[in-house]
Amino acid sequence: MSIKPILPGARIGVLGSGQLGRMLALSARKLGYGVAVYSPEANSPASAVADIDVVGDYLDLPRIHEFAKQVEVVTFEFENVPHDAAKACAEHAAVRPDGHVLHVSQNRLREKSFLKDKGFPTTPFQRVTSLAELEQAVATIGAPGVLKTASFGYDGKGQMKLKTPADATKAWEAMKGVESIYEGFVDFVKEMSVIGARTLDGQVVTFPVFENDHANHILDITFAPAAISSELADEARKIAQGILEKLNVVGLLTVEMFLTRDGRVLVNELAPRTHNSGHLTIDACVTSQFEQQVRAVCGLPLGSTDMTKPAAMANLLGHLWEYGEPDWTAALQDPLVKLHLYGKREARVGRKMGHLTATGDTVELAIERVKKAREALTAKYTAK
Ligand code: AMP
Repeated sequence: MSIKPILPGARIGVLGSGQLGRMLALSARKLGYGVAVYSPEANSPASAVADIDVVGDYLDLPRIHEFAKQVEVVTFEFENVPHDAAKACAEHAAVRPDGHVLHVSQNRLREKSFLKDKGFPTTPFQRVTSLAELEQAVATIGAPGVLKTASFGYDGKGQMKLKTPADATKAWEAMKGVESIYEGFVDFVKEMSVIGARTLDGQVVTFPVFENDHANHILDITFAPAAISSELADEARKIAQGILEKLNVVGLLTVEMFLTRDGRVLVNELAPRTHNSGHLTIDACVTSQFEQQVRAVCGLPLGSTDMTKPAAMANLLGHLWEYGEPDWTAALQDPLVKLHLYGKREARVGRKMGHLTATGDTVELAIERVKKAREALTAKYTAK
């Protein structure tokens, strides 16, 4: 099949305009593309680096139509875009990944059912729409387990752990009656992610496995390569490749995974876009996740995902601003540390404001460097 690429000079449309959209826009511009972003937020991180910034609701279809008329391809930094918005875009431009991929990944039940039907490994799960169904799910799957809202959950929001069956009533009340999913609790030793890209003609390339440490349900540190055997890394990348193929993704897909205590790789979640755990690719891979997204959605050949050096990334959350402006000079004392800030004006606790990436001869050294640099940001305020 010969497919005409969308060449540099064309304009790419991005639904969503946070930090992922900003870094995507920077990569697109480097390759010579124009960028238009759409989101409800004015003065967003991506708007500062886009050619066209449209502020509007995702349900404002006339505005979405106007936006899509100005671009040749539409992609996402945010998957919870209403189906009608993606459909409206498709009347004017290629939408990649398409509405079907969004539909599956917007809802944990559809996502897990897809994975199960196609034979990908996940923890047992069941749909829950009432307390009786939750009690029945707990009886079948067992406790502990996690009850999650089927839609719109992220960073641990909309989730309750059930330690014993007796926690069912409290957990169901917390869901406020919305469609939910009960999952068996995974006894994991690590959380990992694999980001992959697929082109229209079916070429798939995955990044090395990233290992992710969370704090308070929010990603804290990512490092790569993950501290796992090459067999497990191959298995994780093969699972991601299989999902990209079976879902017919054109663009990028992130697969979040668990490594269980007994050595199994289980899929937790999918995101049809770039991911926080892939930020280190900017400074440590031949091709960044953002450039790869541009290449994949525009029909260009995919770039190499090889790492140039082991690397670690540390998120910079809003609490680091608690005492005043973080000490950027101190963090950058280490010449192998790179600073990325997203241009957000207001620092709120838990808000992702930027990240640091460090490279090193070993992954352990990279982790040590990035943690030290982050500590240096507030040291002058906390040292007594
Ligand atoms: P999620 O929103 O599904 O990505 O979940 C957020 C975090 O909660 C994950 O990164 C895990 O640390 C934890 N988690 C989610 N699901 C499970 C599970 N079934 N078993 C154990 N931990 C989980």
